[in-house]
Amino acid sequence: MPPTTRFAPSPTGLLHLGHAFAALTAWRRAREAGGRFLLRLEDIDTGRCRPDYAAAILEDLAWLGLDWDGEVRVQSEHLAEYRAVLDRLAARGLLYPCFCTRAEIAREVSAAAAAPHGPDGPRYPGTCRRLSADERAARLAAGVPHALRLDMAAALEVVGETLTVHEEGEGTVRCDPAAFGDVVLGRKDIPASYHLCVTHDDAVQGVTLVTRGADLRPATAVHRVLQALFGWPTPSYAHHDLRRDADGQRLAKRTGAQSLRTLRAAGIAAADIRAQLLA
Ligand code: GLU
Repeated sequence: MPPTTRFAPSPTGLLHLGHAFAALTAWRRAREAGGRFLLRLEDIDTGRCRPDYAAAILEDLAWLGLDWDGEVRVQSEHLAEYRAVLDRLAARGLLYPCFCTRAEIAREVSAAAAAPHGPDGPRYPGTCRRLSADERAARLAAGVPHALRLDMAAALEVVGETLTVHEEGEGTVRCDPAAFGDVVLGRKDIPASYHLCVTHDDAVQGVTLVTRGADLRPATAVHRVLQALFGWPTPSYAHHDLRRDADGQRLAKRTGAQSLRTLRAAGIAAADIRAQLLA
């Protein structure tokens, strides 16, 4: 079956060559095999995402010569779906409200003799998982802001088997979701999170091959748990190296990576960028 791939940027800034490489990789994998290439805007972080960046992304991709199939999926338009998924997990007893602030978590982690680290940083110590039912109910009734965390141990027990994914070039690899601990699936400000939305959307959009930067590879383990819990199909994964500048730094806005717009304004042709990135 020809693959369905996707490029799923967050509109928090202008695209640079690293994004262009990720987009071209996904696009080429679909196009060379007669598959489908989808575009999705991951804009649930309302504090950082901006509509003008979203518009710029579409324009820059078109300038690069990329075409996508179907409508662009915009995550902020699907919050009710994410809420429904959270409700299903809650009904299975796999979610709990977490009232901790970042500062409280940092304090608790630094006070712990051995604070385990996961791929995302210090693992959440599980403070709110241990709240009594009364305490939890009281805080909810008082309207204390809360996130929703997956009870990872309980989830893995429900799954009941070692999870694996197919990583291109490597074959079947084992996942280690427990290393992440109780990840946030519903943020305090919005009933959604990166892990939840990306996994849900890849499933509902029928993505069969996820190409993305190697920085997101560890997160695949969390996505695999959600796929197992919901019976969603598991795509194949092909994580690619990140583009780096001459000093070996990852391309990123904060390290001064030039945007596609800057390159375009300087007279660089899209064809040259494509040739350079796809070489
Ligand atoms: N939205 C994510 C990002 O911009 C990518 C999500 C994914 O490919 O899984 O980093």
